[in-house]
Amino acid sequence: MIDFRSDTVTKPSPAMLAAMMAAEVGDDVWGEDPTVMALEAAAAARFGKEAGLFCPSGTMTNQIAIRVHTRPGDEVICSVEAHIYNYEGGGIAANSGASVRLLGADDRGRFTAAAVEAAINPDDPHAPHSQLVAVEDTVNRGGGAIWSKAALAEIGEVCRQRGLRYHLDGARVFNRLVATGDDPAEYARPFDSISVCLSKGLGAPVGSVLLGDKAFIHQARRVRKVFGGGMRQAGYLAAAGLYALEHNVARLAEDHAHAARLAGALSGSPLARAVIQPETNIVLFRPAVPGQGAATVGYLKTLGILCGTMSPDLVRFVTHLDVSSAQVDEACALLKVAAPSGQV
Ligand SMILES: *Cc1c(COP(=O)(O)O)cnc(C)c1O
Repeated sequence: MIDFRSDTVTKPSPAMLAAMMAAEVGDDVWGEDPTVMALEAAAAARFGKEAGLFCPSGTMTNQIAIRVHTRPGDEVICSVEAHIYNYEGGGIAANSGASVRLLGADDRGRFTAAAVEAAINPDDPHAPHSQLVAVEDTVNRGGGAIWSKAALAEIGEVCRQRGLRYHLDGARVFNRLVATGDDPAEYARPFDSISVCLSKGLGAPVGSVLLGDKAFIHQARRVRKVFGGGMRQAGYLAAAGLYALEHNVARLAEDHAHAARLAGALSGSPLARAVIQPETNIVLFRPAVPGQGAATVGYLKTLGILCGTMSPDLVRFVTHLDVSSAQVDEACALLKVAAPSGQV
């Protein structure tokens, strides 16, 4: 089976496991795990932020950020495609008591500073208090879409002028940085907080890091405890993250090349009626018969290709470090072969 379901399916390599086995650990809830502290410092330094906080998941880093930035009744401005809105169990409401204003329906989950400006409520007791803008880069539901650095900076400027906080869901921010060649610290400057996943393309088994200034991370550490995310000898896991930052970032370019090859094969495949051009490691396509995404996924499974749907009319392939170039060749060859009639 060639597994394109998600970049979360990767397993730690022998070298990553060796780094985990060799980790020096302590009780991180007491601030005594040197490997966790090293990971937090390394990630913060990479993005030019003052401090970091290691957490079990990207859902938790996003939810902690929202909780720290908002008070109940506040409004979060984000995309209709956002992970924080679609895939975090209603956590914005459940954990923070905040409401949402949804933008970004027409550009793969991206939106403009003008749209943010127009979505900020007036200072009127009828309206929820607009408090936070959250962007996702790359956009998962947008097919790994990359934001322009200028657009992100303009939104940051609106936030600064209007007194809103600015959060980046950077689950796949390294895919963006490798694709564009942008300097991480310069790119990160406008954001008050950044969530970075270690367990996606970077190949660690567990973990995300939340970044921001010292005062923000101090509050975030308290919320992590409330959410049950304080871990003890977590250095074994943090060691995988450190290894990933060191060894698995530059190679994301291979995943992007693989995604481009798959998109090319899908463009000539009878299985797809439209392919959304990949910008990083995610390929989305419309099945030949509208609404038949699940049947297409089922048919591909019989060929030895695993993938998933984002909606009944959208199929998703994700490339990652456990899919080889030879497997991509094999998948491309299979995709070009016509499906038996009536099969999808
Ligand atoms: C995967 C992902 C997350 C975090 O997911 P976890 O599974 O909780 O680590 C957050 N945002 C985006 C865009 C993601 O793809």
